[in-house]
Amino acid sequence: MTLALHSDHARLFERNRFVYPVLSRRSGGISVGVNLNPDKVCNFDCIYCQVDRTRQSETRFVETDALIAELRATLDLVASRAIYETEKFRDVPPQLRRLNDVAFSGDGEPTTYKNFDELMQQCAEVKREAGLDGVKMVLITNASMFHRPHVQRGLEILDRNNGEIWAKLEAGTDEYYHLIERTPIPFRQILDNITAAARLRPLVIQALFMRVGGEPPSPAELEAFCDRLNEITAAGGKLKLVQIYTVARRPAESFVAPLAEAEVDAIVTLVKGRTGLNSIGYYGSAEY
Ligand code: SF4
Repeated sequence: MTLALHSDHARLFERNRFVYPVLSRRSGGISVGVNLNPDKVCNFDCIYCQVDRTRQSETRFVETDALIAELRATLDLVASRAIYETEKFRDVPPQLRRLNDVAFSGDGEPTTYKNFDELMQQCAEVKREAGLDGVKMVLITNASMFHRPHVQRGLEILDRNNGEIWAKLEAGTDEYYHLIERTPIPFRQILDNITAAARLRPLVIQALFMRVGGEPPSPAELEAFCDRLNEITAAGGKLKLVQIYTVARRPAESFVAPLAEAEVDAIVTLVKGRTGLNSIGYYGSAEY
Protein backbone atom coordinates (compact mmCIF):
# COMPACT_ATOMS: atom_id res chain seq x y z
CA MET A 1 0.00 0.00 0.00
CA THR A 2 2.71 2.42 0.99
CA LEU A 3 4.76 1.48 -2.02
CA ALA A 4 1.81 1.96 -4.34
CA LEU A 5 1.15 5.35 -2.80
CA HIS A 6 4.73 6.39 -3.30
CA SER A 7 4.89 5.33 -6.91
CA ASP A 8 1.64 7.22 -7.48
CA HIS A 9 3.36 10.26 -6.03
CA ALA A 10 6.33 9.81 -8.32
CA ARG A 11 4.07 9.62 -11.35
CA LEU A 12 2.20 12.66 -10.12
CA PHE A 13 5.12 15.05 -10.19
CA GLU A 14 6.60 13.50 -13.30
CA ARG A 15 3.36 14.35 -15.13
CA ASN A 16 3.32 17.91 -13.80
CA ARG A 17 3.32 20.67 -16.38
CA PHE A 18 3.77 23.75 -14.20
CA VAL A 19 5.32 22.71 -10.88
CA TYR A 20 8.61 20.85 -10.50
CA PRO A 21 10.62 20.06 -7.36
CA VAL A 22 14.42 20.38 -7.64
CA LEU A 23 17.27 19.86 -5.21
CA SER A 24 18.98 23.21 -4.76
CA ARG A 25 22.36 22.67 -3.08
CA ARG A 26 22.81 26.43 -3.06
CA SER A 27 19.76 26.99 -0.88
CA GLY A 28 20.41 23.84 1.11
CA GLY A 29 17.13 22.09 0.38
CA ILE A 30 14.31 21.40 -2.02
CA SER A 31 13.02 24.23 -4.14
CA VAL A 32 9.59 23.85 -5.69
CA GLY A 33 9.70 25.63 -9.05
CA VAL A 34 6.60 27.12 -10.65
CA ASN A 35 6.69 27.78 -14.39
CA LEU A 36 4.43 30.65 -15.46
CA ASN A 37 5.74 30.60 -19.06
CA PRO A 38 4.96 27.14 -20.43
CA ASP A 39 4.92 28.65 -23.94
CA LYS A 40 8.65 29.50 -23.47
CA VAL A 41 8.03 33.10 -24.53
CA CYS A 42 10.25 35.71 -22.85
CA ASN A 43 10.57 39.47 -23.29
CA PHE A 44 14.39 39.12 -23.02
CA ASP A 45 16.50 36.93 -25.28
CA CYS A 46 19.60 36.56 -23.09
CA ILE A 47 22.60 35.17 -24.92
CA TYR A 48 23.20 32.74 -22.04
CA CYS A 49 19.59 31.52 -21.65
CA GLN A 50 19.28 27.78 -21.14
CA VAL A 51 15.66 27.40 -22.18
CA ASP A 52 15.49 25.25 -25.29
CA ARG A 53 13.32 27.31 -27.64
CA THR A 54 14.11 25.17 -30.67
CA ARG A 55 11.41 22.72 -29.57
CA GLN A 56 7.87 23.91 -29.04
CA SER A 57 6.24 23.13 -25.75
CA GLU A 58 3.03 21.12 -25.74
CA THR A 59 1.61 23.32 -22.99
CA ARG A 60 0.95 26.84 -24.25
CA PHE A 61 -1.05 28.50 -21.47
CA VAL A 62 -1.06 28.52 -17.70
CA GLU A 63 -4.09 26.57 -16.53
CA THR A 64 -4.59 28.03 -13.09
CA ASP A 65 -6.60 25.17 -11.59
CA ALA A 66 -4.09 22.60 -12.80
CA LEU A 67 -1.17 24.69 -11.56
CA ILE A 68 -2.71 25.11 -8.10
CA ALA A 69 -3.51 21.38 -7.87
CA GLU A 70 0.08 20.53 -8.85
CA LEU A 71 1.46 22.99 -6.28
CA ARG A 72 -0.76 21.59 -3.52
CA ALA A 73 0.23 18.00 -4.33
CA THR A 74 3.93 18.81 -4.65
CA LEU A 75 4.08 20.74 -1.37
CA ASP A 76 2.32 17.81 0.29
CA LEU A 77 4.79 15.40 -1.26
CA VAL A 78 7.78 17.36 0.09
CA ALA A 79 6.29 18.26 3.48
CA SER A 80 5.23 14.65 4.11
CA ARG A 81 8.74 13.54 3.04
CA ALA A 82 7.22 11.01 0.65
CA ILE A 83 9.31 12.67 -2.08
CA TYR A 84 12.42 10.99 -0.64
CA GLU A 85 10.92 7.61 -1.52
CA THR A 86 10.89 8.49 -5.21
CA GLU A 87 13.71 7.47 -7.51
CA LYS A 88 14.71 11.03 -8.33
CA PHE A 89 15.06 12.18 -4.71
CA ARG A 90 15.96 9.09 -2.72
CA ASP A 91 19.69 9.93 -2.72
CA VAL A 92 19.21 13.44 -1.29
CA PRO A 93 21.50 13.65 1.77
CA PRO A 94 19.71 14.02 5.14
CA GLN A 95 20.87 17.60 5.74
CA LEU A 96 19.26 18.71 2.46
CA ARG A 97 15.90 17.05 3.17
CA ARG A 98 14.04 20.26 3.83
CA LEU A 99 11.74 22.47 1.81
CA ASN A 100 13.45 25.81 1.26
CA ASP A 101 11.24 27.76 -1.08
CA VAL A 102 8.64 27.98 -3.79
CA ALA A 103 10.39 29.67 -6.74
CA PHE A 104 8.59 31.43 -9.58
CA SER A 105 10.86 31.28 -12.59
CA GLY A 106 10.39 28.84 -15.43
CA ASP A 107 10.85 29.21 -19.16
CA GLY A 108 10.36 32.97 -19.50
CA GLU A 109 9.73 36.11 -17.45
CA PRO A 110 7.11 35.21 -14.80
CA THR A 111 5.73 38.72 -14.34
CA THR A 112 4.53 38.84 -17.95
CA TYR A 113 1.77 36.45 -16.91
CA LYS A 114 -1.39 38.54 -17.10
CA ASN A 115 -2.96 37.33 -13.85
CA PHE A 116 0.30 37.49 -11.92
CA ASP A 117 -1.22 39.12 -8.83
CA GLU A 118 -4.12 36.67 -8.56
CA LEU A 119 -1.80 33.74 -9.01
CA MET A 120 0.58 34.98 -6.29
CA GLN A 121 -2.42 35.25 -3.97
CA GLN A 122 -3.62 31.73 -4.74
CA CYS A 123 -0.14 30.23 -4.35
CA ALA A 124 0.34 32.05 -1.03
CA GLU A 125 -2.95 30.58 0.17
CA VAL A 126 -1.90 27.05 -0.81
CA LYS A 127 1.35 27.53 1.10
CA ARG A 128 -0.49 28.84 4.16
CA GLU A 129 -3.07 26.02 4.08
CA ALA A 130 -0.17 23.54 4.02
CA GLY A 131 1.18 25.13 7.22
CA LEU A 132 4.33 26.28 5.42
CA ASP A 133 4.48 29.93 6.49
CA GLY A 134 8.24 29.62 7.08
CA VAL A 135 8.86 28.59 3.47
CA LYS A 136 9.94 31.46 1.22
CA MET A 137 8.28 32.48 -2.05
CA VAL A 138 11.10 33.52 -4.39
CA LEU A 139 10.37 35.51 -7.54
CA ILE A 140 13.17 35.25 -10.11
CA THR A 141 12.62 38.14 -12.48
CA ASN A 142 14.22 40.49 -15.01
CA ALA A 143 12.34 43.43 -13.40
CA SER A 144 10.99 44.56 -16.77
CA MET A 145 7.34 44.64 -15.66
CA PHE A 146 7.59 46.12 -12.15
CA HIS A 147 5.97 49.37 -13.31
CA ARG A 148 2.71 47.57 -14.16
CA PRO A 149 0.07 47.91 -11.40
CA HIS A 150 -0.89 44.22 -11.34
CA VAL A 151 2.77 43.26 -10.96
CA GLN A 152 3.15 45.76 -8.11
CA ARG A 153 0.16 44.13 -6.43
CA GLY A 154 1.79 40.74 -6.91
CA LEU A 155 5.01 41.98 -5.30
CA GLU A 156 3.02 43.26 -2.32
CA ILE A 157 1.43 39.83 -1.93
CA LEU A 158 4.93 38.34 -1.89
CA ASP A 159 5.95 40.88 0.80
CA ARG A 160 3.15 39.62 3.04
CA ASN A 161 3.99 35.95 2.48
CA ASN A 162 7.69 35.56 3.22
CA GLY A 163 8.55 36.60 -0.32
CA GLU A 164 11.95 37.44 -1.74
CA ILE A 165 12.56 39.13 -5.09
CA TRP A 166 15.65 38.20 -7.08
CA ALA A 167 16.02 40.84 -9.77
CA LYS A 168 18.36 40.42 -12.72
CA LEU A 169 20.91 43.23 -13.21
CA GLU A 170 24.09 42.27 -15.00
CA ALA A 171 25.34 45.27 -16.92
CA GLY A 172 26.58 48.73 -16.15
CA THR A 173 26.21 50.30 -19.57
CA ASP A 174 23.43 50.48 -22.09
CA GLU A 175 25.61 48.88 -24.75
CA TYR A 176 26.53 45.82 -22.68
CA TYR A 177 22.94 45.40 -21.44
CA HIS A 178 21.70 45.19 -25.04
CA LEU A 179 24.53 42.84 -26.02
CA ILE A 180 23.60 40.39 -23.24
CA GLU A 181 19.81 40.68 -22.88
CA ARG A 182 18.87 41.37 -26.54
CA THR A 183 15.61 43.15 -25.77
CA PRO A 184 13.93 46.35 -26.97
CA ILE A 185 13.17 47.23 -23.32
CA PRO A 186 15.37 50.22 -22.35
CA PHE A 187 18.04 49.70 -19.67
CA ARG A 188 16.72 52.84 -17.94
CA GLN A 189 13.35 51.12 -17.45
CA ILE A 190 15.00 48.19 -15.69
CA LEU A 191 17.08 50.47 -13.45
CA ASP A 192 14.07 52.63 -12.57
CA ASN A 193 11.95 49.55 -11.84
CA ILE A 194 14.58 48.00 -9.58
CA THR A 195 15.09 51.29 -7.75
CA ALA A 196 11.35 51.81 -7.16
CA ALA A 197 10.81 48.20 -5.99
CA ALA A 198 13.90 48.32 -3.74
CA ARG A 199 12.57 51.43 -2.02
CA LEU A 200 9.63 49.36 -0.80
CA ARG A 201 11.46 46.19 0.28
CA PRO A 202 15.03 44.88 0.16
CA LEU A 203 15.82 43.11 -3.11
CA VAL A 204 18.35 40.47 -4.04
CA ILE A 205 20.27 41.27 -7.25
CA GLN A 206 21.17 38.39 -9.56
CA ALA A 207 24.05 39.12 -11.93
CA LEU A 208 25.40 36.61 -14.40
CA PHE A 209 28.74 37.40 -16.00
CA MET A 210 30.40 35.33 -18.69
CA ARG A 211 32.89 35.29 -21.54
CA VAL A 212 31.42 36.59 -24.77
CA GLY A 213 33.52 35.53 -27.77
CA GLY A 214 36.28 34.65 -25.31
CA GLU A 215 36.22 38.04 -23.55
CA PRO A 216 35.16 38.53 -19.92
CA PRO A 217 33.33 41.79 -19.02
CA SER A 218 35.79 44.69 -19.16
CA PRO A 219 37.00 46.38 -15.96
CA ALA A 220 35.14 49.53 -17.12
CA GLU A 221 31.88 47.52 -17.47
CA LEU A 222 32.24 46.08 -13.97
CA GLU A 223 32.97 49.54 -12.56
CA ALA A 224 29.86 50.83 -14.30
CA PHE A 225 27.86 47.90 -12.84
CA CYS A 226 28.98 48.98 -9.35
CA ASP A 227 28.02 52.58 -10.21
CA ARG A 228 24.47 51.44 -11.10
CA LEU A 229 24.22 49.55 -7.77
CA ASN A 230 25.41 52.65 -5.94
CA GLU A 231 22.84 54.81 -7.75
CA ILE A 232 20.06 52.46 -6.65
CA THR A 233 21.10 52.61 -3.00
CA ALA A 234 21.74 56.39 -3.17
CA ALA A 235 18.12 56.77 -4.36
CA GLY A 236 16.88 54.93 -1.27
CA GLY A 237 16.78 51.42 -2.70
CA LYS A 238 17.64 48.58 -0.33
CA LEU A 239 19.72 45.71 -1.73
CA LYS A 240 20.26 42.87 0.69
CA LEU A 241 22.51 40.73 -1.48
CA VAL A 242 24.27 40.79 -4.85
CA GLN A 243 24.62 37.26 -6.25
CA ILE A 244 27.35 36.87 -8.86
CA TYR A 245 26.94 33.86 -11.17
CA THR A 246 28.48 32.51 -14.28
CA VAL A 247 27.03 30.14 -16.86
CA ALA A 248 26.65 26.60 -15.60
CA ARG A 249 24.74 24.71 -18.25
CA ARG A 250 24.83 24.81 -22.03
CA PRO A 251 23.70 28.31 -23.06
CA ALA A 252 21.74 29.42 -26.13
CA GLU A 253 24.79 30.71 -27.93
CA SER A 254 28.03 28.87 -28.56
CA PHE A 255 30.08 32.10 -28.19
CA VAL A 256 29.14 32.21 -24.49
CA ALA A 257 31.41 30.50 -21.95
CA PRO A 258 31.79 30.56 -18.16
CA LEU A 259 34.19 32.70 -16.15
CA ALA A 260 36.87 30.99 -14.09
CA GLU A 261 36.21 30.71 -10.36
CA ALA A 262 38.91 33.32 -9.62
CA GLU A 263 37.19 35.76 -11.99
CA VAL A 264 33.86 35.32 -10.18
CA ASP A 265 35.66 35.86 -6.85
CA ALA A 266 37.28 39.03 -8.19
CA ILE A 267 33.87 40.48 -9.16
CA VAL A 268 32.51 39.67 -5.68
CA THR A 269 35.49 41.47 -4.11
CA LEU A 270 35.02 44.45 -6.43
CA VAL A 271 31.28 44.72 -5.66
CA LYS A 272 31.88 44.53 -1.92
CA GLY A 273 34.67 47.11 -2.08
CA ARG A 274 32.93 49.57 -4.40
CA THR A 275 29.40 49.35 -2.99
CA GLY A 276 29.68 48.03 0.58
CA LEU A 277 26.90 45.57 -0.28
CA ASN A 278 26.84 41.92 0.72
CA SER A 279 27.86 39.79 -2.27
CA ILE A 280 28.24 36.05 -2.89
CA GLY A 281 29.70 34.22 -5.89
CA TYR A 282 28.44 30.97 -7.39
CA TYR A 283 30.51 28.99 -9.84
CA GLY A 284 29.36 25.76 -11.37
CA SER A 285 26.02 24.17 -10.76
CA ALA A 286 23.21 26.70 -10.84
CA GLU A 287 19.99 24.89 -10.03
CA TYR A 288 17.87 28.00 -10.66
S1 SF4 B 1 15.13 36.55 -18.82
FE1 SF4 B 1 15.53 34.42 -18.18
S2 SF4 B 1 14.12 33.14 -19.43
FE2 SF4 B 1 14.22 35.18 -20.37
S3 SF4 B 1 15.79 34.98 -21.98
FE3 SF4 B 1 16.79 35.78 -20.11
S4 SF4 B 1 17.57 33.97 -19.02
FE4 SF4 B 1 16.06 33.27 -20.54
